[in-house]
Amino acid sequence: MTYSKPTPGKRQLLKPDAEPGFSISVQPCRPTSRGFIEIKDADPRTPPRIVTNALSTDYDVDQMRKAALFIRRFSQTPTMQALIVREIAPGPSCQGEDALLQDARERAGTLFHPVSTCRMGADPAQSVVNARLQVHGLQGLRVVDASVFPMVTSGNTNAPTLMLAERAADWILAAAQGR
Ligand SMILES: Cc1cc2nc3c(=O)[nH]c(=O)nc-3n(C[C@H](O)[C@H](O)[C@H](O)COP(=O)(O)OP(=O)(O)OC[C@H]3O[C@@H](n4cnc5c(N)ncnc54)[C@H](O)[C@@H]3O)c2cc1C
Repeated sequence: MTYSKPTPGKRQLLKPDAEPGFSISVQPCRPTSRGFIEIKDADPRTPPRIVTNALSTDYDVDQMRKAALFIRRFSQTPTMQALIVREIAPGPSCQGEDALLQDARERAGTLFHPVSTCRMGADPAQSVVNARLQVHGLQGLRVVDASVFPMVTSGNTNAPTLMLAERAADWILAAAQGR
């Protein structure tokens, strides 16, 4: 199916199009752009500020340009043309690398796999938790969720999160039992 994405802030649901269709997308798995997350104020109920800084390095921009051109070439092959009635988005008027890149900036998303805001690592200056998920410099506090991944996985994140949680549960039980 094809669909329009929800408008942020309005909680509108994903809107599927009436006619049958499909999407072709690319997912660069090793982005070099770095964002940040920060506390906005002293009230713990205030949502944090999340700045992804997506497509902010030349490497990432170059990858996206090449990927967008590849999708166009791929969809123009006879095999794909036999299936495609018309391109809905970005549409035939969107031509050239710059226009395709601009379209990617406007329509790209994270695919719901945010990780690494409490990255695991040996160096407290570069990471939040150690290899046993204990917060550097504190006693008795661990972080056990996708935020400790050193980097985003190339596949989905749910199963790796469950694996991590199983492992951490063993460590936490062992620590509680003095093992
Ligand atoms: C729309 C969507 C689709 C996805 N599709 C897939 C998919 O198809 N396959 C896949 O592998 N992954 C998918 N993911 C990603 C996957 O769901 C996440 O990577 C995974 O759930 C991360 O696990 P987590 O434990 O780190 O965080 P979460 O699963 O987000 O768990 C955080 C928990 O903390 C609770 N919480 C938050 N604040 C507080 C608080 N103050 N006090 C107490 N509890 C609190 C929340 O209620 C929640 O239960 C998808 C994610 C989204 C959003």
